[in-house]
Amino acid sequence: MHIIDGKFWANKIAEELKLKVQNLNKKSIFPTLAIILIGDNPSSEIYVRNKEKKCTEIGIKAMVKRLPADGEEQKVIDLIKKFNNDEKVHGILLQSPVPNLDEKKLMNLISPKKDVDGFSTVNLGLVASNDEHILAATPKGIIKLLELENIDVAGKNVVIVGRSNIVGRPLALALLNRDATVTIAHSKTVNLKEITKTADILIVAIGKKHFITEDYVKDDAVVIDVGINRVDNHLYGDVDFDNVKNKAKAISPVPGGVGPMTIIMLLSNLISLVEDK
Ligand code: NDP
Repeated sequence: MHIIDGKFWANKIAEELKLKVQNLNKKSIFPTLAIILIGDNPSSEIYVRNKEKKCTEIGIKAMVKRLPADGEEQKVIDLIKKFNNDEKVHGILLQSPVPNLDEKKLMNLISPKKDVDGFSTVNLGLVASNDEHILAATPKGIIKLLELENIDVAGKNVVIVGRSNIVGRPLALALLNRDATVTIAHSKTVNLKEITKTADILIVAIGKKHFITEDYVKDDAVVIDVGINRVDNHLYGDVDFDNVKNKAKAISPVPGGVGPMTIIMLLSNLISLVEDK
């Protein structure tokens, strides 16, 4: 069994991005990410702080704009429009969840050319039509991890458990674009174990601590655990790592697997938006 070390790869990519930013700075281009944080959700506060920290580490300017949870929608719309028109802002991120307002509508007001998260209908549609522009950070991180580990997806049976718009759905489309044979499962799927056992590569994003045990896994499968479940200040994946590890050929841990890749892929998306401008 091989442990897929997302932290190691993310650090390597961070070094590459740092160099890219230095080269852009030499041309007087200063990559800038605008983050809109609405309300005071503690998890969102942590996510935004981590994104700011990583931006600073790489040399990207992060501008965080905070708005109250009970504010007017028009204020958010005006802020998005202001950033859309600001040449110095290369990427705009609306931290999810957005309390009390129509998140999808607001996400779609972000210019696709500044949609660093890749959550807009336009960018998701481009992935769906095999014309990827910006791929959401978690799916991109998973695909990058597989590439870096020399795990070819073409022709492989990939089973994804979870069909959210931020992980499972765009990931299924992106893997299809790379010639995998993709099955997507969810809470209404019947005989889940029978399906997951067909997977050469099993990717789990459901948000249930240690849900996947060895009886869901084929011998020598590659297992990617996306889940982040915080219990008593500890992080757990959706896969019962100790139970599954000896059956898998390779497995990503939690923490230290997909998580570190997600944040670095967000910044990689920002640099792509700067370079595509
Ligand atoms: P969502 O809650 O949006 O989606 C969960 C998905 O899992 C749904 O499609 C749901 O099915 C499915 N599901 C739930 N229970 C079961 C079950 N018993 N059997 C099969 N399918 C099930 O979650 P997210 O996609 O946002 O996140 C999933 C997990 O990944 C979470 O733990 C989250 O914290 C983590 N995450 C980690 C990231 C990282 O960087 N590592 C980034 C993003 C998320 P249905 O559609 O039918 O309801």
